[in-house]
Amino acid sequence: MPDPVPRRFAGRLLAWYGKHRRDLPWRRTSDPWAIWVSEVMLQQTRVAAVTAAYERFLQRFPRPADLADADDDTLLGAWRGLGYYRRARLLRDGARAVVERHGGQVPTDPEQLGALPGIGRYTRGAVASIAFSHPEPAVDGNVERVLARHRGVASAVKSGTGARRIRELAMELLAEGHPGDVNQALMELGATVCTPRRPVCAECPVAGDCVARRDGTTAQLPVLPPRVAAVKVATCVALIPWRGAQILGVRVAAGAINAGQVDLPGPGPLVACDGPEELAAELEARGLRCTVGGALGRVQHGITNHRITVCAFAGASPAVRPRPPWIAARPDDPDTPWTTIARKVFATVGLTAEERSP
Ligand code: SF4
Repeated sequence: MPDPVPRRFAGRLLAWYGKHRRDLPWRRTSDPWAIWVSEVMLQQTRVAAVTAAYERFLQRFPRPADLADADDDTLLGAWRGLGYYRRARLLRDGARAVVERHGGQVPTDPEQLGALPGIGRYTRGAVASIAFSHPEPAVDGNVERVLARHRGVASAVKSGTGARRIRELAMELLAEGHPGDVNQALMELGATVCTPRRPVCAECPVAGDCVARRDGTTAQLPVLPPRVAAVKVATCVALIPWRGAQILGVRVAAGAINAGQVDLPGPGPLVACDGPEELAAELEARGLRCTVGGALGRVQHGITNHRITVCAFAGASPAVRPRPPWIAARPDDPDTPWTTIARKVFATVGLTAEERSP
């Protein structure tokens, strides 16, 4: 006798999704390129930030060939506000491979999709199921949580056994049809109802046979790896005006955090700095001699498990234009990929209106 749970689950899930799904721009298209872009943007970035960037990005790069041609500044400028810029470069690597291997068309075959640079298991499953209706699981943290709770998966979901079990459960649901909708509905349920801290079981369409709800184990499931302890860093940057409305910045070297972007002068986001004297000495060691004065403001930022406090100090313009990697640009220049910390500082001191630090 076939297990009745997957059929019942899929039916209730899809009925709920039909009524409650959020109207998001990437849900109004079946263009595989647009879906790919949205899935990459949504990894580790809030829906609100992605909504603002998604249409702007696709207007600029409507096809993979348009992104394949983009230089670093254009790419990072279009990616602003999303963070984790490595994803943007990987997306461009993928677009270039689509042009070279597939004549500019995103391949329909999941194997070929998965062989593109930057496309991992999750993105392959999302694009293949949503754009091409292939029964491919797309397992992200939301899907892990819903399935682990509903079916009472006691193994760690990142372990070999746990991950295999979650994929099996997802495959059982996909066998019921409508794979793109099933994958998106699972993610939606995890994002809006079966949330990490306070699942709203009373509004859940599959609550009737949920193991975690029955056993009172929603707080224990899914079993996740232990959290890495937060590391606090206090550092400094200089805000140095240049010829009126421009600000001096520094192009971040390859291999460093935020490589290719433009940061404010300082020792780097993960390097502690004690105040204006240490900051001035740091800048001089890097070839920028200038006086650093009073504090202008403070911003908070997180990079992986680092909780960074950045104090911005006023710097005096140097007598001669510094050479690269130092550059000068307006804070609101859309073609200069200022780092998120730099944009938070600009907003905090009133130079721009976005990215204010909490
Ligand atoms: S009943 Fe509660 S724990 Fe179970 S799947 Fe629904 S929201 Fe999650």
